[in-house]
Amino acid sequence: MTKHTKTLILGSGPAGYTAAVYAARAGLEPLLIEGPQPGGQLTITTDVENWPGDIAVMGPDLMARMAAQARHVGVEVVADLIETVDLGQRPFVAVGDTGERYTADSLIIATGASARWLGLDSETRYRGAGVSACATCDGFFYRGKVVGVVGGGNTAVEEALFLTNFAEKVYLFHRRDALRADRTNQGRLLAHPKIEVVWNVEVQEILGEGRTVSAVALRDVASGAVRQVALEGLFVAIGHDPATQLFKGQLAMDEDGYLSVTPGSTATSQPGVFAAGDVQDKHFRQAITSAGMGCMAALEAERFLAAQPASA
Ligand code: FAD
Ligand code: NAP
Repeated sequence: MTKHTKTLILGSGPAGYTAAVYAARAGLEPLLIEGPQPGGQLTITTDVENWPGDIAVMGPDLMARMAAQARHVGVEVVADLIETVDLGQRPFVAVGDTGERYTADSLIIATGASARWLGLDSETRYRGAGVSACATCDGFFYRGKVVGVVGGGNTAVEEALFLTNFAEKVYLFHRRDALRADRTNQGRLLAHPKIEVVWNVEVQEILGEGRTVSAVALRDVASGAVRQVALEGLFVAIGHDPATQLFKGQLAMDEDGYLSVTPGSTATSQPGVFAAGDVQDKHFRQAITSAGMGCMAALEAERFLAAQPASA
């Protein structure tokens, strides 16, 4: 079966739902595809303490409220996962794993990104309870404590620097003897009195009791020797993967696979296709910035459609 809509939105995180609410209120009768993770990344966290208007809100509750608001303003929310797209001409075509075919006069991509993990069982066990991939989100919980960051890129260095605002001491564990981060960030990191860089180590295991992290076991990559470092929180900052595989060869992307947009806009390389949230932003990666870009994308889709006749 084929469903046609003026505005198709891929993704049900803060960017997708915000775009949907704005698009519905602009009369675009949007159809939103939930994708593999209904509600997006915030459904796998507990307290969110930086969403405006809420002192603290559980991630899944916040996303349930966004979904309810979208339905209230008339958004059609569909449980499907898009497997292929054809963005070469309008209407754009997207095909879901249900076999459903969607055609759209404008498209808003809000498929997000996901953090890379080390792949340890203990990491999965303590995720959200001592192990995190977002210092901006969880750093506040480590006031006066000892924490570690894994990675050697700009994200790891910025996470380590940010954590010095709360933690008593911050270790940076890196698997080589040189950082990938830029020189300015390196200078700040190496000069910081609260930060100790531990070179040439891999995190072998995260240790703890019950649901509390107490140490990491580090393996020296040269000698193979293993030692423990006591800490209460570990931040994994080894990169993110934007969910853009689907658009390869059809939309411009940067070297890390993030969708390229016109500065100050959500317009992608294909007129009528807009990108919002973590799928196009490797710097901020926050719910509020994603929601803001969702708003921009809907307003830009509305202007795009108003400027030209809808396709048949
Ligand atoms: P996402 O939330 O990643 O949503 C992407 C959506 O796209 C999902 O619904 C998915 O199902 C859908 N999708 C993917 N592929 C397809 C496809 N092929 N077809 C259709 N749909 C698809 N931010 C904060 O501001 N404060 C916090 O406290 C905070 N805590 C966090 C805690 C954790 C554990 C994590 C992982 C993140 C946290 N973040 C926090 C970051 C925040 O969750 C993200 O910045 C935000 O969710 C990004 O929103 P988004 O809408 O761009 O994408
Ligand atoms: P990144 O540059 O790819 O760095 C990832 C780091 O994690 C690397 O140091 C890598 O080690 C390490 N790593 C990867 N897999 C690992 C594993 N399994 N175990 C241990 N360590 C592992 O990723 P990023 O830091 O998230 O940055 C992504 C992009 O965004 C980059 O282009 C970055 O410059 C940019 N960015 C820029 C800013 C800024 O300009 N202020 C801020 C944040 C991000 P190796 O070095 O050994 O490969």
